[in-house]
Amino acid sequence: MTEADRKNPRYRRSLELFERAQSVIPGGIYGHVTPALLEPGDSPYYASRAEGCRYWDVDGNEYLDFLCGYGPVVLGHANPEVDEAAERVRRDGQCFNHPTSQMVELAERLVACIDFAGWAVFAKNGSDVTTWCIQVAREATGRRKLLMARGAYHGTASWCSPGHGGLIDEDRRQVLNFDWNDPQSVEDAFNQHADDLAAVIVTPFHHPLFEGSSLPDEEFVHTVCDLCDRHGALLILDDIRAGFRLHLGGSHRVFGWRPDLACYSKALGNGYPISAAAGKPELKTAASKVFLTGSFWNSPVEMAASLKTIQLLENQDGIDVMRQRGETFTTGLARAAQGAGLSVRVTGPPALPFMHFENDPDYRIRHAFARAC
Ligand code: PMP
Repeated sequence: MTEADRKNPRYRRSLELFERAQSVIPGGIYGHVTPALLEPGDSPYYASRAEGCRYWDVDGNEYLDFLCGYGPVVLGHANPEVDEAAERVRRDGQCFNHPTSQMVELAERLVACIDFAGWAVFAKNGSDVTTWCIQVAREATGRRKLLMARGAYHGTASWCSPGHGGLIDEDRRQVLNFDWNDPQSVEDAFNQHADDLAAVIVTPFHHPLFEGSSLPDEEFVHTVCDLCDRHGALLILDDIRAGFRLHLGGSHRVFGWRPDLACYSKALGNGYPISAAAGKPELKTAASKVFLTGSFWNSPVEMAASLKTIQLLENQDGIDVMRQRGETFTTGLARAAQGAGLSVRVTGPPALPFMHFENDPDYRIRHAFARAC
């Protein structure tokens, strides 16, 4: 940190905390929010509270949270109805030796709203269930290999982590890549490895790291689904980011995917830590053989929050509201950019927009924009 950064009064407490963190936490702040990806001293590093569409940092600066807490907060921060549903069960205890009735209710709810699903299981993070689904596909098919889109993000496990540290070649030996919206690249992979291909994992639309999003072409979706059907590979839909933001029955309904297994998280609990995997009835036996557990995974608190979130999204026409507001937002962004003489591209569905500046290879314009916001 330079002397100038240290003096930025707007982020004084953030910068102080970051300084302290650097001596007791590897990297100070790790993961995708690491300040290493930002202009030093130019943005808040620590949040303090949130309500509705706003949050405040530790210096008391107020922000409109267009990131929605990195995706999950679809009904607003500290939503009173979701919080009340969670708090009501929390008062009776939250860490049990057993599952509770909320788990059964939530599984029933997911099976009712996701058309292909005959069962559901629960965990805490997206990575828990993407990785577990791979194991289920291997158990069900007796095959080893996995096909994923180049640049796609499926979590932090070693088979898919976008990082470098601590990985060995063997971690990805069974992972093959295809190019998004390139049916030939999928066909080529099947031609070479069909006999050993356990699964193809896709996000409903492509949202690679740091790049614009692209929706799937119809022909691409059909080719992938048909190849999976023809060769007995399972199709896993990683709906962690988009699920419950594009369609209450799962995002495959929007694009025509025909998944065998699907993973949900983020919007499922409006910020409460929960993830789910759902699958076709015929995969239930394989699913029951793949070990799945965690010390905190029986907690009914997140499950109660999730049941309430789904109910509110349904009652308030949440999917349509997100689409409409997303359209207003993205149209406004494009108009404002044009007015300022900037070349901007807004990609992805309106409910999950991604904006980036063209001709901005070192992200200078992006940083200046974020700073001004
Ligand atoms: N898959 C996708 C598509 C995601 O966007 C994410 C999280 N950004 C994950 C998997 C991993 O989820 P988590 O961070 O909860 O492990």
